[in-house]
Amino acid sequence: MSGRSALGRALLGALAVALAAPLAACSPSGPSSADDALAVLDSSIAAGDRERFDTALDRTVPQSTRDMWWSNLGRLSDVDFERTGDGWRVRWSVPGERAVATEAVSIATACAGSVCRITGIGAASGPAPAWLVEPTDVVSVDGAVLIVGRGAPDLSAAASMASSAARDAGMSLLTVDPDAPLVLEVPAADSTYALVTGMSAARTQGLGALTQREGGAPRIVVNPARAGLWSPSQANMLLTHESVHWRLSDLGAPVGGNEWVSEGLAEWLGLPRDADEAAASRARVARACRDTDGAPVLPADEQFSSTDDADALRDAYALSWAAVDELVDENGAEAAGALVEQLWTTPAEQLGGAADPLPRWCAANSS
Ligand SMILES: [Zn+2]
Repeated sequence: MSGRSALGRALLGALAVALAAPLAACSPSGPSSADDALAVLDSSIAAGDRERFDTALDRTVPQSTRDMWWSNLGRLSDVDFERTGDGWRVRWSVPGERAVATEAVSIATACAGSVCRITGIGAASGPAPAWLVEPTDVVSVDGAVLIVGRGAPDLSAAASMASSAARDAGMSLLTVDPDAPLVLEVPAADSTYALVTGMSAARTQGLGALTQREGGAPRIVVNPARAGLWSPSQANMLLTHESVHWRLSDLGAPVGGNEWVSEGLAEWLGLPRDADEAAASRARVARACRDTDGAPVLPADEQFSSTDDADALRDAYALSWAAVDELVDENGAEAAGALVEQLWTTPAEQLGGAADPLPRWCAANSS
């Protein structure tokens, strides 16, 4: 009996060799198309298989670039490169994130005989993936995940605080998906900040941070030049402000004329994190009350983009804050949130007095 079973194993072994040999002989020694090379990239990242990852890359890709791609991509979830009608795109998430970022990238490949490998992955037009433009780490803290360029300011504590501020606001508008981690991108340099936002420096260098959608995923992108100068309370205030935009990004922009609703809610949650900034905003509104006999006008949408006039811009934010502050004082946070949601889509004049709270703020706060 033992002899027969040994023979059986020997036969099976021979059969396996016979089956394997022709397969190996007709299979190419690498990806057979650009799409195939990207599929190898996807599957090797998912499997944590560095050796296979390298088989998708042409030998002309420098070792330092390979190492950066491998290190950066390995920290992400669900990386998926794919061809589109007119180019290439990549889908990706950070650990714990349910939303999926989708960004255009440019992929270069070279085919020799029947083997095609990737020679380059670059930024396309629009925002570039944060992991593509520099070496990054992924930092998970309570309530937030940060993709951080090496050497960028450490904002993990402020991000965690910003996330909990929205959860604790007592406004269900801000807690639609309370467990979704806030996702931030903190580039290390001006140049990578410009690539990640995909916008000209003229539009972005004056900003501390902005919230943008990368396909289905909202991301707070921090301006490293500004963030390096923030005190801890300023960092808390600015990231809490952005966290409101992040949480409401599904709503899109408010209806024309009601930009103050969005900025006012963001300031209402953010300002209490920095006592100096809160006092300065309060003083600005008090001055506007005096200058207008107690009836300041709500800021027009254009005032939020007048970045060349810092004073007008600060007035716009302060008045927006006071308007939402008054709605909360009068109605409580929960009902004020419902009003804000209504104002998001309804022109202010259709809502009567509820949409013009500044005179009431002046009356309640004049002393
Ligand atoms: Zn804002």
